Amino acid sequence: MGDVSDDPRRRVPRTDAVLADARLGPALATLGRARVKEVVVAAQDRARAGEIAPEAVADEVVATLPLTSATLRPILNATGVLLHTNIGRAPLSSAARDALDLAAGTTDVELDLATGGRGRRGAGALGALAAAVPDAGGVHVANNGAAALILAATALASGREIVIARGEMVEIGDGFRLPDLLESTGARLREVGTTNRVHRADYADAVGPDTGMILKVHPSNFVVTGFTSSVPVADLVGLGVPVVSDIGSGLLAPHPLLPAEPDATSELRAGADLVTASGDKLLGGPQAGLLFGDADLVHRLRRHPLARALRVDKLTLAALEATLRGPLPPVRAMLEADVEDLRARAVVLAGKVGGIAVDCAAQVGGGGAPGVELASAGVALPVEAAEALRTGTDPVLARVEQGRCVVDLRSVPPEADARLADAIALALVRAPG
Ligand SMILES: *Cc1c(COP(=O)(O)O)cnc(C)c1O
Repeated sequence: MGDVSDDPRRRVPRTDAVLADARLGPALATLGRARVKEVVVAAQDRARAGEIAPEAVADEVVATLPLTSATLRPILNATGVLLHTNIGRAPLSSAARDALDLAAGTTDVELDLATGGRGRRGAGALGALAAAVPDAGGVHVANNGAAALILAATALASGREIVIARGEMVEIGDGFRLPDLLESTGARLREVGTTNRVHRADYADAVGPDTGMILKVHPSNFVVTGFTSSVPVADLVGLGVPVVSDIGSGLLAPHPLLPAEPDATSELRAGADLVTASGDKLLGGPQAGLLFGDADLVHRLRRHPLARALRVDKLTLAALEATLRGPLPPVRAMLEADVEDLRARAVVLAGKVGGIAVDCAAQVGGGGAPGVELASAGVALPVEAAEALRTGTDPVLARVEQGRCVVDLRSVPPEADARLADAIALALVRAPG
């Protein structure tokens, strides 16, 4: 029989002893005891497995403690795709971030402080939306663009028909198809036209007593070119049924750099009864579904039972209002940045980290303006840098094109340039190319 006291496993410190280590004090406060305990148990397991010395357990815990309770990692977007669904679409403005912090506590989100009675939920955000789109008789906010569409389709066309052009039956990403979404409300789709062409007469022929609404959908993530025709909203009013326009991107007014992108104001002026859009695309705000339109129609949607299930939380309302009332949100600043400024930043960055300052082309992304190329600039690095950047301690998502890794500066806020340079320098050490 061996001497059990020699077994290093007997020297693994007890959980309570490790938790009493003064260095864990701050983590106990920020992460909570249960989370810290998990890390301690993992370190004890490693010691029992002989992977670390029993005396090193506390050091191992200190070294492996997560910094925050959430597992989300911040990412620098150097893809040149301004709106990237996989990394959370629009980054919020500092005004919106401040509003989130404030709204996280208890606020007058649904209380009238003067009377002490219930107030209109999200009155501030709704007021900001109404002010931003004066042509809208009513405004409402739902969880996202899809929710706004579901609400409209349910309230106007459940058990009835939605007339929609075949070329506007789009897939919005990750396998989600608009037609399936619409049919899930109990509405039936009445497709008109062909993939590439549809005329006013096609709509007029299809509209009948069973029609709940006509739906126009902006093909926001692809372009059809060649022998094509679609029917603008202005030509669909007067057919006797509500016209709903899903513009997708959330532009509230025309944007000079994106002349082909529909906007809420123009669609309402053209006669749309209802316009739906996303909050986290070109508007540059939080995930939300925006509804603008005829006052009675919007009131009907707002009072529909489904509206309660699609209701946005206080954080969304706060961030949305601050986006609308505050300074230009990052997405808009990125869109409107002067390419000469991007070139100057690229030269400075290349001077710091190596690589070559290059011209390149950025894009708005799946959230809008398909096919539009935005003149941009960045730094070209060896192709191996892309993976090293992505897997670094401060992850950067870059673009791989023509056998090289391009760090596109149009999607990087200028104040992040120093951070980007540090991340590139570290990545080039790991993958010198
Ligand atoms: C993005 C988009 C949607 C879906 O909006 P979400 O906010 O992602 O739910 C619907 N329709 C169009 C045209 C879109 O571009």
